[in-house]
Amino acid sequence: MIDIKQEEKVGNLSVFDEISEYAHEQVVYCYDEPTGLKAIIGIHNTVLGPALGGTRMWNYKSEHEAFIDVLRLSRGMTFKAAISGLNLGGGKAVIIGDAQKIKSEGLLRRFGRFVENLHGKYVTAEDVNMSPDDMEYISMETKYVTGLSEKMGGSGDPSPFTAFGVYMGMKACAKEAYGKDSLEGKRIAIQGVGHVGYFLVKHLAAEGARIIVSDICNDKLKDVAKEFKVEVVNEDELYDSQMDIFAPCALGATVNDDTLGRMNCDIIAGAANNQLEDELRHGKMLMKKGIIYAPDFMINAGGLINVGLDYLGNYSRERVFKKVEKIYNIVLDIIHKTKEEKIPSQEAAIKLATQRINEIGKVKLHL
Ligand code: NAD
Repeated sequence: MIDIKQEEKVGNLSVFDEISEYAHEQVVYCYDEPTGLKAIIGIHNTVLGPALGGTRMWNYKSEHEAFIDVLRLSRGMTFKAAISGLNLGGGKAVIIGDAQKIKSEGLLRRFGRFVENLHGKYVTAEDVNMSPDDMEYISMETKYVTGLSEKMGGSGDPSPFTAFGVYMGMKACAKEAYGKDSLEGKRIAIQGVGHVGYFLVKHLAAEGARIIVSDICNDKLKDVAKEFKVEVVNEDELYDSQMDIFAPCALGATVNDDTLGRMNCDIIAGAANNQLEDELRHGKMLMKKGIIYAPDFMINAGGLINVGLDYLGNYSRERVFKKVEKIYNIVLDIIHKTKEEKIPSQEAAIKLATQRINEIGKVKLHL
């Protein structure tokens, strides 16, 4: 006899244990044999509005790894939207498989149909390993897609907005650390000069910061060094550089036991997602070391604000820049809460986001 409970177990917890741990509303498994589509859509919370978040395609080691990734990422989107003052919830989708091998028009359009069948509860956008052309295929089957290319009538590349938000958040941290928000003369180490890093360098160069950059791509380094006055260091050297501010704009988990032992900075403020390898432990270590940390999901919300306003309508770049500029005040609020309650900044940010969801949830209850 098949023990259903045993069959449903993944890792040490059952699927429903995991879902309840992250507090999701709904998780949708999408399967289509002819195209090879295997996708999971995580709808974390829709109290504030439709669950918006990109679709990423990744060659996960296991289906369980994909499941956990979608739970974690969609939960993060809930907090990001809430703290940014958007009337949107948190969602994310993952398509399982090697993008080079399995991506096809059929698979993407079939995925689009699954999104359409959720009738707007989940809204998708571009994420890792998805191109503007892929999004165009998805949009042939569903209207619940945003952040399309400008060619398609969408708002296009969100990176300039993300970079502007990081710049604003960094200035707020500087205000706290140095008493004024000017970054002139500050030594700022930027890890990764891709889409976001490039625009961040542009803002910082205009303000007269002393910029140090690293990237694993030499061509990107050459381009940035040609256009701006920057010091180039190799990727591992960056952590040992003399710096006031560290701006991770490449990968996650760069704030860890090793790098915290090496870095000597006052502020960490960058665009990368999941910067703390261990959210709780490294959050506390940063506090102990007196490093001001701008929570990643807050400071990099510019891109979401852009696609969010694109979806909600009445879009203009000016409106987006105005809303992104508010990241400055939100970061200051988080810093104050951190000091008041003596809690790590990531925890303070989650508390502020949750507070807004609970308040608006009550308002909606009385409609
Ligand atoms: P990108 O791929 O354009 O740029 C990342 C850059 O980092 C690349 O140039 C890459 O060569 C470099 N890199 C990779 N590993 C490195 C290493 N070990 N050391 C130094 N450089 C390294 O990505 P992006 O769009 O600029 O995004 C940067 C980060 O910000 C990512 O973590 C992304 O998830 C996050 N983010 C981006 C946006 C956005 O609007 N693009 C929004 C929110 C969060």
